Amino acid sequence: MAGEAQDDCLFCKIVAGQIPATIVRQTATTVAFRDINPKAPVHVLVIPKAHYPDAASLAEGAPELAADVLRETQAVAEEEKLESYRTVFNTGAGAGQTVFHAHAHVLGGRGLQWPPG
Ligand code: 5GP
Ligand code: ZN
Repeated sequence: MAGEAQDDCLFCKIVAGQIPATIVRQTATTVAFRDINPKAPVHVLVIPKAHYPDAASLAEGAPELAADVLRETQAVAEEEKLESYRTVFNTGAGAGQTVFHAHAHVLGGRGLQWPPG
């Protein structure tokens, strides 16, 4: 069923505390933790606790939860004192998605080029 934890999902395991992560914020519906392979001085992932494979399926299946994730990206940016930052949702392997549990990357702390590679 949509939203249910998946046994083979890395981020569901982080939500369940089965895999450690450096958690920076948590709400009733979301977790924010530092990316293990940071691409910027600040690189935090914001995920819904419920499992949706990507941003679009999250928005479709649980729009209020998608809003929670977006709200948390701003909360992370404020906590990390980022004046500007980039929020990224990679969707599909061709765009670099490697973990198929919806997540927002919050990147900041350095200049960011546009367009991204
Ligand atoms: P994607 O490539 O799917 O957009 O983003 C997945 C992100 O998860 C990558 O930036 C990757 O570095 C990060 N990641 C993968 N495995 C782990 C892990 O075990 N712990 C943490 N904190 N981040 C991870
Ligand atoms: Zn998951």
